[in-house]
Amino acid sequence: MTGFVFPGIQSRVVFGFGTLGKVGEEVERLGHERALVLSTPGQAEDAEALAKRLGARAAGTFSEAAMHTPVEVTERAMAAFEKSGADCLVSIGGGSTIGLGKAISTRTGADHVAVPTTYAGSEMTDILGETENGAKTTRRDASIRPEVVVYDVDLTLTLPADLTVTSALNAIAHGVEALYAPDANPVLSLMSLEAMRRFKAGLPVVAREPGNREARAQVLEGAWYCSTALGYITMALHHKLAHVLGGSFGTPHAETHAILLPHTAGFNAEGTDALDGVAEIFGSVGGGLWDFAKDAGAPMRLADLGMSEADLDRASEIATQNAYSNPRPFDREDIRKLLQAAWEGRRPE
Ligand code: NAD
Repeated sequence: MTGFVFPGIQSRVVFGFGTLGKVGEEVERLGHERALVLSTPGQAEDAEALAKRLGARAAGTFSEAAMHTPVEVTERAMAAFEKSGADCLVSIGGGSTIGLGKAISTRTGADHVAVPTTYAGSEMTDILGETENGAKTTRRDASIRPEVVVYDVDLTLTLPADLTVTSALNAIAHGVEALYAPDANPVLSLMSLEAMRRFKAGLPVVAREPGNREARAQVLEGAWYCSTALGYITMALHHKLAHVLGGSFGTPHAETHAILLPHTAGFNAEGTDALDGVAEIFGSVGGGLWDFAKDAGAPMRLADLGMSEADLDRASEIATQNAYSNPRPFDREDIRKLLQAAWEGRRPE
């Protein structure tokens, strides 16, 4: 047995059906009076409805959140926050909106209540990725983590089928990397494996029947476990590659994770027995996850995300420039081969 450190889980979590109705209580419980409600333009109506529901506890809405937290949007949101007289933030949406909440909260010290509506998993983490002048920087700091996370299963019923599937695979990727992380611990490993069981059972149901509330609950609870795992451990090859493809080639976040996962997990399974539990759940690691993704209707080829074969050379170059911890050593050639298989959509061995 090797020793470990369990850092504790620092955010308060409220989970259930209809829990959106508890956001006001949570704002009050934090000792605040008026929240600025954040969303993307596509979820502006949800933000307005929540502000209406919060009544006097709402200071207004800001609905310009965008993918990868552009700094110019954050600056406009900071101005809106100050002008509104708000003393805290409520973000309702996926990783883009929660990212904006984190960006304001870490700059102002304001408390942040996150209400996630996808499975991407930003809500439990101390990680913030921001873009400025085309460059993405990522940092970790305790001040970034939302104080409260309110999971309302009902909000996920409208999650479009394609995003449901890619976002679920994005979540599973957090769980996979938590199992072999250098700072892995038994609690987060248990949560990660339980999350995978929930996705294995629930995702096919949700993909067929998006309005199935019990299956949506099963999957959202899995997403919470995976987000927690992401928030407390160090990620490796999978997240590094996803970051390289998204940052340097503009590939969309959830789809990129979904396509890479069977390939990165299959590659790493040969370097560690930490993924044996994943093989038990999916039949095998690389092939099993690939079959699961395909059956759920996930995109399977990097070629379909607009990447050319020549891009794979440059991506392998960038991904091997700096050393980082990974259970299986690799070189540029290994990554090039892995990317080729993901580009073609080939089933890993
Ligand atoms: P997203 O937040 O960009 O959402 C995608 C689209 O779906 C948006 O238009 C959104 O409004 C809409 N949407 C979200 N939930 C919906 C719902 N229930 N019903 C209808 N429409 C809905 O996508 P995402 O995949 O959740 O997040 C991706 C972003 O989050 C990326 O920028 C990524 O880097 C970041 N992220 C950060 C972390 C972290 O720990 N910092 C973790 C995961 C993701």
